[in-house]
Amino acid sequence: MTTVSAERITCDVCVVGGGPAGLSAALAARRAGASVELLDLFERPGGQYFMQPAHPPTGAAARQVAEGRALIEHVLASGVLIRSGVEVFGAYDEPLILARRGDAALVVKPRAVVLATGAHDRPAPFPGWTLPGVMTPGAAQRLVKLHGTRPGSRVVLAGCGPFLLVVAAQLRAAGCDVVRVVETSPSPLALAAALARFPRHWPEAARIMLAVVPLLPRFRFGRIVTRAAGETHVTGAIIARIGRDGRVLTEGAEELDGIDALLVGYGFRPSVELATMLGCALAHDWDAGGAYVVADRVSGATSVPGIFAAGEITGIAGARPALAAGECAGIAAAGFAGKATPSPDGGRLKQAMDFALALRRAFRPPYGTLGRLPQDDTLLCRCEEVRASEVRAALDEGAGDAHGVKMWTRAGMGPCQGRICGFGISVYAGCAGSADPAVFGANAARLPARPVPVDVLAAAVGMATREEGAQIIPTG
Ligand SMILES: Cc1cc2nc3c(=O)[nH]c(=O)nc-3n(C[C@H](O)[C@H](O)[C@H](O)COP(=O)(O)OP(=O)(O)OC[C@H]3O[C@@H](n4cnc5c(N)ncnc54)[C@H](O)[C@@H]3O)c2cc1C
Repeated sequence: MTTVSAERITCDVCVVGGGPAGLSAALAARRAGASVELLDLFERPGGQYFMQPAHPPTGAAARQVAEGRALIEHVLASGVLIRSGVEVFGAYDEPLILARRGDAALVVKPRAVVLATGAHDRPAPFPGWTLPGVMTPGAAQRLVKLHGTRPGSRVVLAGCGPFLLVVAAQLRAAGCDVVRVVETSPSPLALAAALARFPRHWPEAARIMLAVVPLLPRFRFGRIVTRAAGETHVTGAIIARIGRDGRVLTEGAEELDGIDALLVGYGFRPSVELATMLGCALAHDWDAGGAYVVADRVSGATSVPGIFAAGEITGIAGARPALAAGECAGIAAAGFAGKATPSPDGGRLKQAMDFALALRRAFRPPYGTLGRLPQDDTLLCRCEEVRASEVRAALDEGAGDAHGVKMWTRAGMGPCQGRICGFGISVYAGCAGSADPAVFGANAARLPARPVPVDVLAAAVGMATREEGAQIIPTG
């Protein structure tokens, strides 16, 4: 084992996450006079919405990238230190942040923290979902936007929510043949009704809709992908109608062949791992993406003094609310760190949230249907290779919540720490009769929250305990 040294960083405000929420929090805190460090996992700041490809695109995508670039330039010019490629794997409420950049350890000791760790895709397991070529729409988008790589040439896109429209447009622009867009919502009427109340969103909606008009004959509403077919790679998909009671109607199901990519996702889940490590209170609301961080709607203050939260981790709402919430949280964090600040103005956030809430209601995944898709031999937890039958046996034997299932079966104990399988296991448990999801809960994050080389972990923990007096016991 090589010896790794840890770098110690102090600042007024540490922002974790460089998406819209984190960037705008960092800018606001810096403008309020705080010294600010922004740590972000990705190679370049921007997060999901303002993702910055190495080669800027032309056409419709260019607008979003340019808006993000302008914000990043403002943030840098203000004096915020952005550290990209930094993965935070531990957080303690001293507050103390443990991170790594490649093989180097970082220990950050700020006065206040803004958590803006965003969200991740929300896949649900179904037979065949582990075949190569089956991936989430978010992963496919990343391939296209960042690397100019198509996920496949003949593609089926499935799930629910407006994100499917965005990805359909991007796949088409990238030259993919999008054979079907399978949406679980019964019709587009709910989207139309939500949009009708918010004229200021019409231009953006019109841009997206225009881009997918040629695909409209390929849209199927009120349907779901029940199975991926293929031997060594996905080559087909079965698409079935969803009945009024949420059951899958096998009669008249469509069997599609000749595809080489199947992209399935049911919205997003807030990335709450670091917030749980810090002891921030969570709540559960399916419409908000599942477990989310409870934060004051104006200041972003969480239940832990000095820890603020903004953006998708406080409930899935999109980029505009994230920008507005980030600004408020940045001001509040600078105030906590001792800077004289004006009161955050929650007006912009409230306005942005109204539209987000209408969209959430328009696109509710059919949780009951999703929970019935796995067969006994379907893998629910891919990291630990735990099948549905094993999870059901654990539930039958008395594992009443996510933690119990993890202890019984190891589901959620692998490198993803439940990020990928957590949703699938809770909807499956719901259908197996076990659970109100709010009670079923989510896996508590343990140190390290993300996979990290042991010598980097040791260096960070060593410095934190030696120099900061922190009491840290790795348990992951
Ligand atoms: C895969 C995906 C694709 C999306 N694409 C779109 C889209 O095309 N259009 C749209 O309107 N909305 C999209 N969204 C929704 C998106 O979440 C919001 O629109 C917006 O980006 C939210 O801003 P945010 O700052 O809250 O989070 P994000 O933009 O997600 O930013 C969070 C940041 O936190 C960082 N981070 C997370 N964990 C750690 C850690 N442990 N250590 C260090 N850094 C960390 C990430 O690297 C990321 O940069 C997408 C969401 C996902 C999950």
